[in-house]
Amino acid sequence: MTESAERALKNAYALLKNTTPLENVNCGYLCSSACCGGDENDCVFLFPYEDELVKGNGFTICETEGNFGFSALRCNGECNRNFRPLGCRIFPLFPLILPKNGHEKIVVITDPRASICPLTLENARVSPKFVRAVRRAGIYLMRDPEINGYMKRMTNELLEIIELRNKLEK
Ligand code: SF4
Ligand code: SF4
Repeated sequence: MTESAERALKNAYALLKNTTPLENVNCGYLCSSACCGGDENDCVFLFPYEDELVKGNGFTICETEGNFGFSALRCNGECNRNFRPLGCRIFPLFPLILPKNGHEKIVVITDPRASICPLTLENARVSPKFVRAVRRAGIYLMRDPEINGYMKRMTNELLEIIELRNKLEK
């Protein structure tokens, strides 16, 4: 792992260590922790280099076709929260990288793949503190070139999913 990637990932992990989608409430009580199914077909996509940070903590690192060549993680539905990957820390949101006046900015959206989560329902209100933490984590992450490239590819993919869904709903 490069120094820049390690710094970006560790800063993002720290920001999202204790900041969760609902303030003062464990949202897992709402849904019996639906996003921690532990099914053998469930996996969490890892950001570039993240496999090196999380491996050896009771997780299985696996290959997947859907993550631009980067690995995924499988768990048994329980984990030491200190080692949970970014995909779990930011769920059900995602920090997109979008162009702005010749620069890049982070825009946090509800991940269109996260329909299992009750917090994606229209009237659900995710904590603004959590949204800010995901945005700040995105700003750290986009500073590493490899992670930046990954996030842009994921941005395009998520925007395509949203566009397709909007067309189907018309
Ligand atoms: S599915 Fe959503 S509400 Fe349920 S534990 Fe995961 S993030 Fe929280
Ligand atoms: S790694 Fe932890 S937080 Fe993520 S899905 Fe598995 S049990 Fe849930």
